[in-house]
Amino acid sequence: MNSIVVPGEALCVEEEFMPFEGVYTLDGVVRANTIGIPIYDVVNRRIYIKPAKNPKRPKSGDIVIGVVDRIRDEMATIRIIGYDVTTTFKHTFTGILHISQVMESRAQNLYDFIKLGDFVKVKILNSYIPYIVSMKDPRLGVILAYCSKCGSQLIKTGDFLKCTKCNNTENRKLSVDYMLVKGK
Ligand SMILES: [Zn+2]
Repeated sequence: MNSIVVPGEALCVEEEFMPFEGVYTLDGVVRANTIGIPIYDVVNRRIYIKPAKNPKRPKSGDIVIGVVDRIRDEMATIRIIGYDVTTTFKHTFTGILHISQVMESRAQNLYDFIKLGDFVKVKILNSYIPYIVSMKDPRLGVILAYCSKCGSQLIKTGDFLKCTKCNNTENRKLSVDYMLVKGK
C-alpha cells in the first residue's frame, strides 16, 4: 500500500481523491509528479506525495541517481536526486559528467550514450559542489529512458533500447540495473 512511486505512475482517478501536492492530473487520472510515498487522505479526500527519506548530501565514492539536465559537446549536467528512489536528497545537486568519464575507452560523442531526461546511476568523485560524476562501471549508466520520438518508456532488448509503442530503437550507455529504479 505505502510503496514508493516514481514520476508518471498512476495513483487513482480524480473522482476518488482531489490532487494536492506532488501530483498532477492527466485525462482524469491522478499521477505522481515526484518520487515518494502516496498518501491517500480519506478525511479530506485528497491525495499527495510524501517525500522519501532525506539524507543531506552525497559524498565522494557514493553511487547516486539523477536526471540528465543538459548536454553540451563534451559535458553533461546531471540533476542528482538521491541514493535510489526510496532515499532522495532534500534538495537536488548538480553533477558534472565529462565525456572522459562515460566509458573506459574515450567516448567520441556524448549524445550516443545519454539523452536529455534519462535517469542515470552515477558515482560521485569529489566532495564539493558541483559534484564531478562518472558512469564507467557496468552498474553505472542509464537506468530509465524514454523514446525520443513518442515519449514512451524504452525497454532493454539485448544491448539496445526499444520503444514498445513505435518500435524505435535507441542506444545508451546502459547500467546493468536498467529499469531497477525502485531499489536493489
Ligand atoms: Zn516511441
